[in-house]
Amino acid sequence: MILYRAHLLWSASPTQLGEAADGALLVDATGRIGASGPFEQIAPHHPGVEIQDLRPLWILPGLIDLHVHLPQYEAVAMDGLELLPWLEVHIFPAEARFANVGVARQAAKCFFADLLALGTTTAVVYSTIHQAATDAAFQEAESSGIRCAMGKVMMDRHAPPALCEDTETSLQQSEELLQQWHGKADGRLLYALAPRFAPMCSPELMRGAGALSDKYDAYLQTHLSENAQELAWVKQLFPDCASYTEVYHRHGMLNARTLLGHGIHLEATERALIREAGASIVHCPSSNAFLQSGVMPLKQWREEGLGLGLGTDVAGGPTLSMWQEMAMACTASKLRSALLHEQAAVAPAEAFHLATRSSAQALGLQSRIGGLEPGLDADFIVVDPRCSDPARRTEEAAELVLSRLLYRADPRMVRATYVRGRRCSALDL
Ligand SMILES: [Zn+2]
Repeated sequence: MILYRAHLLWSASPTQLGEAADGALLVDATGRIGASGPFEQIAPHHPGVEIQDLRPLWILPGLIDLHVHLPQYEAVAMDGLELLPWLEVHIFPAEARFANVGVARQAAKCFFADLLALGTTTAVVYSTIHQAATDAAFQEAESSGIRCAMGKVMMDRHAPPALCEDTETSLQQSEELLQQWHGKADGRLLYALAPRFAPMCSPELMRGAGALSDKYDAYLQTHLSENAQELAWVKQLFPDCASYTEVYHRHGMLNARTLLGHGIHLEATERALIREAGASIVHCPSSNAFLQSGVMPLKQWREEGLGLGLGTDVAGGPTLSMWQEMAMACTASKLRSALLHEQAAVAPAEAFHLATRSSAQALGLQSRIGGLEPGLDADFIVVDPRCSDPARRTEEAAELVLSRLLYRADPRMVRATYVRGRRCSALDL
């Protein structure tokens, strides 16, 4: 048991922050939060407990990256192409290298270490089609201490020969990995089936992936409605379906554990299908800007009651930093608002909510992660607000501090990252 003394900051609602300026976070021996709130109220109830005084540092809930591709990390920031040619030129060659397990293992080590160093405590990850590489990536996730839902990519048509699978094999290997890893490390590791997107999945593969998600209560992640060329391709491949979302709906891929990357260009009927299924859309604004895909109407989707989360979509997004992703959610929304005169822009507090509470909700893990309340797992980060402030201030209004952490994220500002109370990454404290 240990009691951390620091300025606590969390998301209290989609638009409001909660804070305890001189706060205490008690972490018990099982890695749960035993108590949190003002230090003067918490400390007297726990005499004799070791106190780690972190002032003037701040404690925030760990960030959740709801959509990221491990094998693409080495291919980040390759500018100049839109989605489909970018996949062919930069991404598929990077993914093909994961046929070598050694390459995959080394890449996974760097990937999880970098996520944790940036303050991401939970990541929902696509691996490649390779079973052995995905298994190695799970092993690295396990030893890194990160909370992770991951799955091997599934694609059985229109993929390059080196990455195109036989339908049966894809389903069988996915099921084997799922049985091996879903719920491991006391639920810290979870399986997320990953049929890449409709154009590269046969109807049988999509149906099979949906059935496995239902059978094992596992996540299902895929891409939806990202890019104009992609939309035209889906229309051509599935002429009987009224929309892109209907393709997934008809093939049993929409459920409450479904995470749909992007969801930019959606008709009202598609949004209704997603809402009815209880599925969530993962907003990836950096990727959407980088690949010139568009700007998702975040405010509107939220007002309509769609489940929402936030993801870097590396390598569509050029960095693993959820700080930059939160800033981009605000910036993209401001540009959309200014150009289209259609809605108010998203504020940092809303982006922070999206990266913590809302993403936890999309995973159905809101009683485990996303905040600092007693009973939640102790997934938290220690942040130094002086690193993002030219004047090195520490005790300012929470809104101001958060705004600078987002817009002026600095690699030194995340001083330590804890998952279930275990320190997984740290600079000197
Ligand atoms: Zn993606």
